[in-house]
Amino acid sequence: MSIWYPSFYPAFRCKAAACRHSCCRGWEIDVDEGSAALYRELPGKLGEDLRAALFEDGEGWHFRLTAEERCPLLQPDGLCRLIRELGEEALCDICALHPRFFQEIGEDELWGLGLSCEAVTELLLGQPMLRFTCRETGETTGFEGLLRRLGIKVPQALLRYAPRIDEARRRELLSRFAATEAIDDDWPRELAALERAPLPEAKDESAYQRIYEYMLFRQIERTEEWEWDSLVAYARLCTDLLVLWDALEPDTAGHLRRISEQIEYSTENVDRLLH
Ligand code: SF4
Repeated sequence: MSIWYPSFYPAFRCKAAACRHSCCRGWEIDVDEGSAALYRELPGKLGEDLRAALFEDGEGWHFRLTAEERCPLLQPDGLCRLIRELGEEALCDICALHPRFFQEIGEDELWGLGLSCEAVTELLLGQPMLRFTCRETGETTGFEGLLRRLGIKVPQALLRYAPRIDEARRRELLSRFAATEAIDDDWPRELAALERAPLPEAKDESAYQRIYEYMLFRQIERTEEWEWDSLVAYARLCTDLLVLWDALEPDTAGHLRRISEQIEYSTENVDRLLH
């Protein structure tokens, strides 16, 4: 068995208070059984506050978000009260692991970092090329090499990204993404604004190539259910939308993070684009 990860994986550091789009806001926070048991027994004021924040439903334990949709443990300075008072080892699994994701491909494992995290988008865009490292041997390779080592055959032409966005493609993009379930009220407004985006001429295609490959990397495990044609069409939709958005207002890292949180964290939304 081999474990492969993007070569920037070990460089990930949470930006904590410096993060503008904290993952401690706006997301439902599930608490694993072990952590919930620890929190329910904890003495003192922190234990009392944790018990007030915890609730259980048919799917398990969760933290009740505040009226502003913030984690109740997120302090005004942007730092986590649990880490401050008990240390990182007291975090529940989801908070300890985020933004990491893991995929199993046959005997091998892929580790990755999700693009809804602004620290990860900055890391990805800061790389001259997307490379992957084997944890066991230290070998590095590009995306095509990774696929070969995993025993996955894909025609080379499908792995090349070149934006070709005309008026018909813009209409297709807006209608496909409008059919996904909106993460919040801003998403439909953001899509509507793209109706007046100038048709783009991509300037830095290597950055979009890297993003396109990373979008495919995140969905590799779906190759058990989907043909590569569908996966490639999915990654093109997401990358084309990003290119169009950048033509309206250049902010590749911000738009990429936004597309990721809207699409990649909802299997239903990914499936709607895969069909
Ligand atoms: S989004 Fe990323 S950088 Fe920001 S608080 Fe979450 S893990 Fe840290």
